[in-house]
Amino acid sequence: MKIFCQECGAANDPGSKECRICHASLPRNDSKPDYGKFNFEASPAPVKEIQPPIYLLWSLALTFCCCSPLAILAIIFGLQSHLAFKNKDYERAERKSESTRIVLIWSTVLGFVMWIVLFVSGVFD
Ligand SMILES: [Zn+2]
Repeated sequence: MKIFCQECGAANDPGSKECRICHASLPRNDSKPDYGKFNFEASPAPVKEIQPPIYLLWSLALTFCCCSPLAILAIIFGLQSHLAFKNKDYERAERKSESTRIVLIWSTVLGFVMWIVLFVSGVFD
């Protein structure tokens, strides 16, 4: 049976250690019985090997709506998280994802405050 890549979904030959398309590491399940493999494919991948969310759309939206330097920082953290994940440094990817989220929450709050201040100060009158 083919091994399906969890990153890009490509079918790889049995026994492959990494994906031929994206070079992500593949689950080594050739020693498991077939029903185990079936279960494995049907269930989500182990938590550690899922790319943590990097909130890129949120970061980009904030960058363009609020011109917030914090949002740019969030994009940088998000990219660092993505790169760490690609290097299989899952712990760092998690940490960077968390940093991204915190920075985004702050920049969203500050962005809102900025708009409210601008609105209240009568800039749009
Ligand atoms: Zn792949």
